[in-house]
Amino acid sequence: MIFDVLTLFPGMFDSPLRESILGRAIKQGTLDVRAHNLRDWAEGKHLTTDDTPYGGGDGMVMKPEPIARAVAELRQKAPAAKVLLMTPQGVPFRQQHARDLACESGLIFLCGRYEGFDERVRQTLVDAEFSIGDFVLTGGELPAMVMIDAISRNLPGVLGSSGSVETDSFVDGLLEYPQYTRPAVFNGMSVPGVLLSGDHGKVANWRREQQLLRTLQRRPELLENVTLNDHDKLVLERLIKEVETRE
Ligand code: SAM
Repeated sequence: MIFDVLTLFPGMFDSPLRESILGRAIKQGTLDVRAHNLRDWAEGKHLTTDDTPYGGGDGMVMKPEPIARAVAELRQKAPAAKVLLMTPQGVPFRQQHARDLACESGLIFLCGRYEGFDERVRQTLVDAEFSIGDFVLTGGELPAMVMIDAISRNLPGVLGSSGSVETDSFVDGLLEYPQYTRPAVFNGMSVPGVLLSGDHGKVANWRREQQLLRTLQRRPELLENVTLNDHDKLVLERLIKEVETRE
């Protein structure tokens, strides 16, 4: 998988991509992240990439021409690559997007700065617009890194033995169950006995019930879009009653 990133600050990508799981995957060649300086496609003495907004107002707007030239050149090398625009006005980025985008052969990330992009960039050059949350950052570099990280975890071979995405929160629409490790007793708090029982069936049932309970308590809105089997539904009904009685 090749991630091309168009940014005014390519140096921001150096350190995060050298470390840990992504650093190893890049070294192994499982994925490749290429941060390109948008100024390389700018023209004129000052290599200008932004200009004042038509209609007046504060701040600067990113010009369309350098972005169009950059996207055209990158697309020549990777015609199937999808162009993703980072914007707080985009579709909220979710785990399912991370899984779907991991099936693409290449992705081109457009990182904005200042007041964002000239509207014609969005209208003509972009396949999808993504937001990483309802807040405004100074640039699209961190959103692009967040998305690259989340997408990469879903590529075969990236996690290796360091974990599995299958039990992660959101993968089946629910939050993950609570995790414990040694010691069995910490500050007077014991690990739930079922996890020490060695009974895989009981452990699986306990974990499923905890997933339902966690989701009910922390993110009940997720339960509206989740497919539950009959046993899940019975457990959930019981949990709802138990939670209501406690309140
Ligand atoms: N004026 C724009 C608005 O209100 O929609 C915000 C511009 S922001 C200061 C500069 C750039 O940061 C954006 O063009 C975008 O690339 C990036 N950015 C900021 N917040 C973001 C978010 N929540 N998700 C994705 N990208 C974001």
